[in-house]
Amino acid sequence: MSSFNLNGIGMTSRRTRDRLIERLREKGIADQRVLETMRMLPRHIFVDEALAHRAYEDIALPIGFNQTISQPYIVALMTQVLFSDGDSAVKRESVLEIGTGSGYQASVLSHMAKRVYTVERISGLIEIAKSRFRALKIRNIRVKHDDGNTGWEQQSPFDAIIVTAGAPAVPDALVDQLNIGGRIVIPVGQGESQSLLIIDKTSKGLQKTNIADVRFVPLLRGTIEL
Ligand code: SAH
Repeated sequence: MSSFNLNGIGMTSRRTRDRLIERLREKGIADQRVLETMRMLPRHIFVDEALAHRAYEDIALPIGFNQTISQPYIVALMTQVLFSDGDSAVKRESVLEIGTGSGYQASVLSHMAKRVYTVERISGLIEIAKSRFRALKIRNIRVKHDDGNTGWEQQSPFDAIIVTAGAPAVPDALVDQLNIGGRIVIPVGQGESQSLLIIDKTSKGLQKTNIADVRFVPLLRGTIEL
């Protein structure tokens, strides 16, 4: 895994990446920091080499273990809602992600937050995600092999939490581990499609907003060694 081609050629070149960013802009992603982070981040090293030529299409792709790297538009949308409120940027220093997967979403977050904590239940995905962080010289991401339904108590409270698997309901532990003024973005629903919810934690309670219909792999229980 030391042989990542970070710059890319042909279908993974800078020009191909620029086209994806244009597409995200057309679809309504306006946060410049999100767009610039995704422009420079080589998504092709987060997928299998055989699929690298499709890495800059706006689609989800398989990453093994029956899991997927999310569609770039959804990554951009979720990141944008975590770091901006209307037109104004919101500072989020400490961010928790549930569902490390390929490590792509965590890498995007690492450029926008001071510290990123990410939890994954499949051990086999963790080592490869870590090797990608090393190749990209990203040093502010901590990874834990655990059931993300329990959050990451020792590192809490968080300013923001992003769940990248479809949850039957919002796990209580995540709400508990969020600061007042913090925000969770999470796909919630039974079955194949979910509602992408924003949950704001205020001193008066939780405020929920549904922003899109999405399709994520399910948030499961327990951990596995693979
Ligand atoms: N954010 C990832 C995409 C995630 S796919 C990326 O950028 O590539 C969803 C991931 O959530 C899968 O890797 C899956 O194993 C993980 N997952 C599902 N249930 C989980 C749980 N309870 N705790 C932690 N991770 C979980």
